[in-house]
Amino acid sequence: MTTRTSDQTTPDPAADPTTDPATASVKTFESINPATGDVVGTHPVHGEADVHAAVERARATADWWAGLGFDGRQEVLTQWRGVITRRLAQLCDVVHQETGKPHGDAQLECALAIDHLAWAGSHAAKVLGRKRVSPGLLLANQAASVEYLPLGVVGVIGPWNYPVFTPMGSIAYALAAGNTVVFKPSELTPGVGTWLADSLREVVGDHDLLQVVTGYGETGAALCRAGVDKIAFTGSTATGKRVMATCAETLTPVVIEAGGKDALLVDEDADLDAAADAAAWGAFANAGQTCAGVERVYVHERVHDRFVDLLAAKARTVHAGVDVDAKIGPMTMPGQLDVVRRHVADALARGGRAVVGGNEAVGDRFVQPTVLVEVPEDSEAVTEETFGPTVTVRRVRDMDEAVELTNAGKYGLGSAIFTAKRGDDLARRLRTGMTSINSVISFAGVPTLPFGGVGDSGFGRIHGPDGLREFTFAKAVTRQRFKAPLNLTTFDRTPEQDTMVATLLLALHGRASQLPKLPRRPLETIRGRRRG
Ligand code: NAD
Repeated sequence: MTTRTSDQTTPDPAADPTTDPATASVKTFESINPATGDVVGTHPVHGEADVHAAVERARATADWWAGLGFDGRQEVLTQWRGVITRRLAQLCDVVHQETGKPHGDAQLECALAIDHLAWAGSHAAKVLGRKRVSPGLLLANQAASVEYLPLGVVGVIGPWNYPVFTPMGSIAYALAAGNTVVFKPSELTPGVGTWLADSLREVVGDHDLLQVVTGYGETGAALCRAGVDKIAFTGSTATGKRVMATCAETLTPVVIEAGGKDALLVDEDADLDAAADAAAWGAFANAGQTCAGVERVYVHERVHDRFVDLLAAKARTVHAGVDVDAKIGPMTMPGQLDVVRRHVADALARGGRAVVGGNEAVGDRFVQPTVLVEVPEDSEAVTEETFGPTVTVRRVRDMDEAVELTNAGKYGLGSAIFTAKRGDDLARRLRTGMTSINSVISFAGVPTLPFGGVGDSGFGRIHGPDGLREFTFAKAVTRQRFKAPLNLTTFDRTPEQDTMVATLLLALHGRASQLPKLPRRPLETIRGRRRG
C-alpha cells in the first residue's frame, strides 16, 4: 500500500468535519507520492458513524438542492466549474503528487472532467424534464407524461487512476440530476477527493452538497450500508462484486464501472502509422493504468509485422520516470507491480517474446513500456487486466478472427478498430460497451455518449443522457382529461363493451399475422447478430 495508518488524539477539525474535535480520537492515514515515497497528506479514516452522519447531512440538504430546479442547479454547477478551472494548476498538482502522473496528463483528465460537468449541468433539464407522451388508443382520454426525479442521496466510490475524471463521471451527473453526493475517494487519492469537495463549498457554503469520507475499503462498505439511494462504484471487478453483495443487504441499487481488457483491432487496410501511434498511447499512457486502456492488439496477418515494427519504434520513444522527458510516471499502487511482473513472466515463460521491454522492464516503482508477441491466448497477460504499460500483439487471419478473440474475454468495457472501410460493421459485432474507430478511448471524452461495459466490466451507464437518468427514477403520470366513452377501469363495464374492445383489438393488431413473412436468413447470420 502507498498509505500508512496512525492514531492521533488531536484531530484537525478542518480535515475531519465529521468528528467532534473535543472528544474524538481520530484514526488517520497518509497519502504517499508513489514516485518519491514522500507523504502528500494526512486524512481521517472515517468509520461507520462518520459515514452515517455524512449521509444524514446529505439527506437534509437534498430537498434544498432538488428544490433549486434545473436552472438553479445549473447556475451552481457552472460556478463550481469556474472555480475548478481557475485553480486548475493547484488541482493538477495534487493529482500529480498522489498518482505520480505527469502534469500534462493530470491536466487532460481535469479538462475532460470539466467538460462533463458543463454538459451534465446544461443538459439535465432537456433530458430529465417532464415530457408529454402518447397515451395510446385504449386510454386516449388520459394525458400522459414522464419525468425523471432525483433519487435523493448518491454514494460515489472511486478509484485512484483518474481521481478527477472518473468520479466526476458520476458526481457531476448525480448532482445535475438533483441528488446530493457523499464521495469516498480511493485511499491512494484522498487529497484529490477532498480538494473537489472543498472547491464546491466555495460556491455553496454550508450546504452539504458534496461531502467526502476518506479511508479504506471499510469506509466504502459503510457507505454502501448507510442508506444512500444508489451507489455509483468505479473500481476493480473483484471489489465491484463485494460492493454489490453489501448493497444487496439493503436493496440499494448500484452502477458498477469495473475493469477491462480492451482490444484494438487492426485491419489490413488501416493507416498503420496512426494505428501504432494510438496503440502506444492507449497501452502506455498513465503507465497503462487506464480502465479502457489498450491491453491486447489483434492485427491482420498481411500487416502484422510492419505494425509490430512501428509499435516497437514508438514504444522505444516512451519511458517511465520523473525526469522532464518522461512520458509516463510510476505505478501508483505498488501492489500492481506484482500483477504486471507475473503477467509478463507468465507470457514469456509460455512462449511469448518481448519485442520491447520484458521482465527487466518491471522495476521497483516504474515499469518501462513492454510489447509482447506470440503470447498464448489463455495466458494471464491476455485474459486478466494487467493495468500496466504492457501490451500483447497477435497475428490474426482476418477481422472475423479478431472479433472472435476479442469477444472471448470475460471483460467488455471498450475496444478500438483501425480500418479504412469496415468500422461500423466491426464495432457492432464487438461485445463491448464502447468502441472507437480509428482512435483510442475517444468515447470517454464525448459527454453525450454513455460510458460503461458489459460482462465483468460491470453494468449501468455514466455520462450522457443515460448517465443523467442513471441517478433518477422515472415518474409516470396520467391525468384524465375527459370521461372515456368506453370506460375500461370500472366494475360497471358491460359485456357489450368487452366485445367492443375485442373488435378494436382485431382492427388494431389482428392483421399483424397476415403480413408477408420475413425472408429466411441463414442460421449463422442470426447467431452472429445476436452475439454482436
Ligand atoms: P479497487 O476496487 O481496489 O478500489 C476502488 C474503490 O473501492 C476504492 O475507493 C476502495 O477504497 C473501495 N473499496 C474497496 N473495498 C471496498 C468494499 N468492500 N466496499 C466498498 N468499497 C470498497 O480499485 P482501484 O485499485 O482503486 O482502481 C483500479 C480499478 O478500477 C481497475 O480495475 C480499473 O479498471 C478500474 N476502473 C474502472 C473504470 C471504469 O469506468 N470502468 C474507471 C477507472 C478505473
